[in-house]
Amino acid sequence: MRFLRILTVMLLPFLATPALAQSAPIKVVATTGMIADAANQIGGDLIELKTLMGAGVDPHSFRQTRSDILALMNADLILWNGLYLEAQLEPLLLDLAQSRTVVAVAEAIPQDTLSSHPEYEDRFDPHVWMDPTLWRTVVLAVRDALSASYPEGAAIFEANAAQHLAEIDRLAAYAQSSLSSVPEAARVLVTAHDAFGYFGRAFDFEVLGIQGISTASEAGLLQISTLVDTLVARQIGAIFVESSVSDRNIRALQEGAAAQGHAVAIGGELYSDAIGPEGSYEGTYIGMLDHNITTITRALGGTAPAGGMNGALTP
Ligand code: ZN
Repeated sequence: MRFLRILTVMLLPFLATPALAQSAPIKVVATTGMIADAANQIGGDLIELKTLMGAGVDPHSFRQTRSDILALMNADLILWNGLYLEAQLEPLLLDLAQSRTVVAVAEAIPQDTLSSHPEYEDRFDPHVWMDPTLWRTVVLAVRDALSASYPEGAAIFEANAAQHLAEIDRLAAYAQSSLSSVPEAARVLVTAHDAFGYFGRAFDFEVLGIQGISTASEAGLLQISTLVDTLVARQIGAIFVESSVSDRNIRALQEGAAAQGHAVAIGGELYSDAIGPEGSYEGTYIGMLDHNITTITRALGGTAPAGGMNGALTP
């Protein structure tokens, strides 16, 4: 009896924590939080996941640290966006591709469904996560890359991916119904940078960027006044910010519109190139887009529940 009790005590730690006793079969490194979320939804416990770019990190200018390089060297599979999103990291990733599996998941999207890059004529717009329909293809590419790296998990990856794709389809339907409730004339998205091209294309919004406009130059002033005219003529009630936008331009737009008797509000902050804080709903792909869709809809006079598609948005 006493021996049994000792045996139980000895075995207990092993019985209680079987997951800790062995590590996940494959090590995966993902560049952006959006790609990491897809890998997490599909890979679950079968992958050990590291995300290089957390909340608020700009992928265009991201540079790797020593610990990032170490994680990349130790990975069984590296997932990145491609389409020149990770501009600074690209040479290292291409180099690593000589010796391990490195997959540019956004490049799985057929080129004839991509738009050209707003700044580089010979490149495509990399912000594909903004359109749930394009993102579907990326999710499938993540699933296939995981299955190729760990064939024993293929059935689980397929089932998890199917479940996640169903959520993405629900998100796309929510986006359509919410955003189409915005009065047609007000379907103009004035944002800080050029990340919303696919969003505008998918949901029939005109997208006007204000990044890079300098109020110090005549050309800049002309652009501001053209934007102001658009805001007034179409009675657009809100413009949107990201942390990177200059206050001066926003103020110039607001003041210009006010001088013509039209009040413009700040409609909220949108997630453009990074997901929200780790552990939050907005820190998932679905939560990130739900936040953007719901914020835009409500600020521009459409109808959407304050808590978003799942009632889970941070108030
Ligand atoms: Zn961007």
